[in-house]
Formats: sequence, structure tokens, C-alpha cells
Amino acid sequence: MLDDIERVLISRDRIEARVRELAEDITRDHATGRSPDRAELTMIPILTGAMIFCCDLMRYIPMAMKIGMVTVSSYPGTSIRSQGPSVLGKQLGDIKGRHVVLVDDILDSGGTIRAVVPMLQELGAASVRVCVLLRKNRPEAMATPCDYVGFDIPDEFVVGYGLDYDDYYRNLPDVVTLKRSVIPPHRAES
Ligand code: 5GP
Ligand code: MG
Repeated sequence: MLDDIERVLISRDRIEARVRELAEDITRDHATGRSPDRAELTMIPILTGAMIFCCDLMRYIPMAMKIGMVTVSSYPGTSIRSQGPSVLGKQLGDIKGRHVVLVDDILDSGGTIRAVVPMLQELGAASVRVCVLLRKNRPEAMATPCDYVGFDIPDEFVVGYGLDYDDYYRNLPDVVTLKRSVIPPHRAES
């Protein structure tokens, strides 16, 4: 697995430092006008990619919170371009009147966020804020409303820290690019 890495784009140390900062921002924004332990927060990672990021993030948010989850697939199997998001399942609890933080690993075409945010609003959330670890430098990503961004990165395919290729590499602690030999050329275009 480690042999497949081309280069480390964001190291585990940089990720950890930035995750702490994002948690501080989220805590501050949701504590406004009320005591922090009274705010009704629900953190919702978009599975599977945001699982590791959200687990780390919420441990630095010292507020009362519930956890929901939603499963969205847009990169089935070995595709490395979005095939359009589909919501495969959700376990949100009752989010009516609650402040929701939707957490995703990476903002690419923006299709996932644009599909999930209205769904949460329709379920009666008091507010929906979006937090992504990574945002790709492409117009569609930049044009998608997002409240918290960990890192802006080049428009490259990355894995690690929750992000996969064919469901592998999620357990890498750094965000990395893969060698071309790992991603067949015909896949790189799909
Ligand atoms: P969007 O809907 O914004 O196009 O894509 C969001 C989803 O696509 C992310 O949650 C992630 O699962 C997947 N994705 C987008 N770019 C990448 C990437 O560079 N690497 C990996 N592994 N997944 C990506
Ligand atoms: Mg995802």
C-alpha cells in the first residue's frame, strides 16, 4: 500500500493542526448568544469518506452534540470522476430545530453538498453549516457554498485520511496522490 504513494500532499501533522482550528471555529460559531453546553448541535459526516475527519473533529468540539450520518456515493468503485451523487442511506435522528454541521472529506463538483443540504433543511434543521477537509481548485467547488474549509488543493485525485480509491487507502494517515501505475490510464479519464 505504501509503495503506491506518489507524494504526500498534506501530512498528518498539518491535518491535526488544521482540524483543531476548524473545531475552534465551529465551537465559536455555535456558541454565540448561548452557553456552549446548551447549543443543540448535530454533526453529520457523509460516509464513508468523512468518517475519520469527523471523528477527529468532534473530539475537539466541547459542546453537547448528537451524531447523525448519511451515506452518499458518487465515485463508485474505480471511477475517479464523479458519476453524480446518490443518497444510499441516512440515519439522522430528529434534526428539527437543531444546528447541523454537515461534514465531508472533499468538495469537488459540489454535487454531494448541493444534494444533501436541501434535504437537511427540509427536515427542519435550525441551521445547516458545511465543513469540508479539502476543496479542489476548480470553479464548481469554489462556487459551492461552504462554511469551513480545511485546505484548498490542486485539482488532483487524492486518497488517505478517509478518502479512497476502490475503497482502499482510507486508513492512510496523510492525504496523498497515487502513482500513475496504480490508476490505469483509461480510469484516469473516466
Ligand atoms: P462532489 O459531489 O463534490 O463532486 O464530490 C464529493 C465526493 O466525491 C467526496 O465526498 C468524495 O467522496 C469524492 N471525491 C471527490 N474528489 C475526490 C478525490 O480526489 N479523491 C477521492 N478519493 N474521492 C473524491
Ligand atoms: Mg464522500
